Amino acid sequence: MMTTQKNPHTPHTPHPPSSTPAPRPFVARPPLTSTQRPQGTYQPRVFRAPVTGTPVGAPPFKPALPKHYLRPTTPIVRPANEGKKLRIMVVGGLEEVGRNCTFIEYGDDIIIIDMGLQFPEEDMPGIDYIIPNISYLKGKEKNIRGVIITHAHYDHIGGIPHLIPVLGYPPMYGLPLTNAIIKKRQEDYKNLSPLNIHNLNLKDKLKLGVFELEFFHLNHNIPDSMGVVVNTPEGVVVHTGDWKFDYQPVAGDQPADLQKIARIGSEGVLALLTDSTNASQSGHQISESEIGTNLDDIIGKAKGRLIIGTFASLLSRIKQIVEIAERTGRVIAVDGFSMKSNIEIAKELGYIKFHPKTIIDIKNVDNFPPNKVMIICTGAQGEKNASLMRIANGEHRSVRLMEGDTVVFSSSVIPGNERTVQRLKDTLFRKGAEVIHYQMMDVHAGGHAKADDVKLMIRLINPKYFVPIEGNHFLLHYNAKVAESTGFAKDHIFIGDNGQVMEFQNGVGVLTKEKIPADYVFVDGLGVSDETNVVMRDRQLLAEDGMVVIIATVDSKTGKMIQNPDIISRGFVFLKEHKELIEDLRHRVKKVVIDSDPLSWADTNNIRNKIRDYVGQFLYTKTEKRPMILPVIIEV
Ligand SMILES: [Zn+2]
Repeated sequence: MMTTQKNPHTPHTPHPPSSTPAPRPFVARPPLTSTQRPQGTYQPRVFRAPVTGTPVGAPPFKPALPKHYLRPTTPIVRPANEGKKLRIMVVGGLEEVGRNCTFIEYGDDIIIIDMGLQFPEEDMPGIDYIIPNISYLKGKEKNIRGVIITHAHYDHIGGIPHLIPVLGYPPMYGLPLTNAIIKKRQEDYKNLSPLNIHNLNLKDKLKLGVFELEFFHLNHNIPDSMGVVVNTPEGVVVHTGDWKFDYQPVAGDQPADLQKIARIGSEGVLALLTDSTNASQSGHQISESEIGTNLDDIIGKAKGRLIIGTFASLLSRIKQIVEIAERTGRVIAVDGFSMKSNIEIAKELGYIKFHPKTIIDIKNVDNFPPNKVMIICTGAQGEKNASLMRIANGEHRSVRLMEGDTVVFSSSVIPGNERTVQRLKDTLFRKGAEVIHYQMMDVHAGGHAKADDVKLMIRLINPKYFVPIEGNHFLLHYNAKVAESTGFAKDHIFIGDNGQVMEFQNGVGVLTKEKIPADYVFVDGLGVSDETNVVMRDRQLLAEDGMVVIIATVDSKTGKMIQNPDIISRGFVFLKEHKELIEDLRHRVKKVVIDSDPLSWADTNNIRNKIRDYVGQFLYTKTEKRPMILPVIIEV
């Protein structure tokens, strides 16, 4: 159990970022022409140029052969391993999209990659989110050499405020934007110590215990997404985080660093852990610039105001929206604290550039003609207190919906929110707005590698073992099929469950039967607990069949019933329509109390259990419902 913390959903007052990292120098590259862009299948000749890092005079890099994993890689001389094994444990992200977290352990050295959160399922009423289970690290805190964060999406950073304090604030490493968003989010948790967090440069090499780390740039739908290369005594492990290849990214971003990836691959890689989210889809993922073109279309067609509901973490998309707004002469009102602060951070770091007059205060939206206004806000998931809901319900301070408004949704809807979102759309249409549901703005659409991207990654990295991560179990299987299509043998692909240990020794990997704890850890309002299963069962029970409270008042000395038992129910049956049933029940409870032996009343648990069992059975035979029964014995 942890100290109480502020509910992360509570709105708070804006404040400037605590420390301002230096802006990252941006080196513009000419955009690739359409003839340079890969069409359909992968063309290895693109990489025939000497790979970065190859000594002058070295033979040119040769693309991998289909049975590449059988080819012995250059043996790397390593000190005797003293029987130690490399252990890789993915505690979140193998059975769901979300809660990503991986431990890499060798002897007394551990590094952690990502600490995400997962949104609750429909059968978890009242739960805010789920975070990775770190029980395995209990007692091993001193071995943790560092925590690497691949990018700033919540399914990769969301667990940090809850887990880092428990681990004793180990050093954390990420690229500048990632770190800035993590630090900003940390400000919500006022009673925590500052994070021990360090800005990385993609050129950096990091020594953490026995591990030596390198990083490479990948594309995604948030800037500063990177892959992690972990040199271990047993070989090189590559963890991609979330990624796609974008050969023509929007200004400010670079294409994924294919040269570096190829160089790493050419030096021999033991295992590749990679994103499965979109691997089931054929072809290549589309470029952010194409997504921008589609957005352009929508925005160009809107005649009146545009209200765009999106995720605050979708910075690449927000950046495009801002650019299109400037191009089409619209001003932007940003609503929602997280949205505002993320845009602020991105601007400070130079990821988003806009004219100071482009962003206006939401209070002033009515001072501009409708076709010159765009509102970016949170709430595309139908969140109760988010801006979009308030706008729809007419409860927003500054924005009143009007005829001609176009509302753009940026979802797939997170499971559990479907009906709320449908109702929200109904309301918007009723009030005269046009509603567009635009999947490409989603966190999980457009940002992840498809099958052909995965194949290219496999060709470049040329790993011995392939480990699909980041997806529901079926998605991992699809990703595995992609690897098989490139010639991977099944026994070199590890499809694990959360917590299932992979071990590597002398170049041989095994997906063991050992499982470390990976059960749900719930964040529920103010607290964190991995013992919430009982609570969850109760909530499910209450939601299904309601509850019945039976209050019996008895004489504490004789055990005699003093008055007829009271029966209260909620969510069970309409009492008025079931008067007979209730009377019958009252009568029976009385009999149970009278028949029981007052001598055993030293412990009222006994009689309580008796009532619970009896009433439960009785109500089930009468109604086929199993309400929660709460007997209360008052002794006077
Ligand atoms: Zn992501």
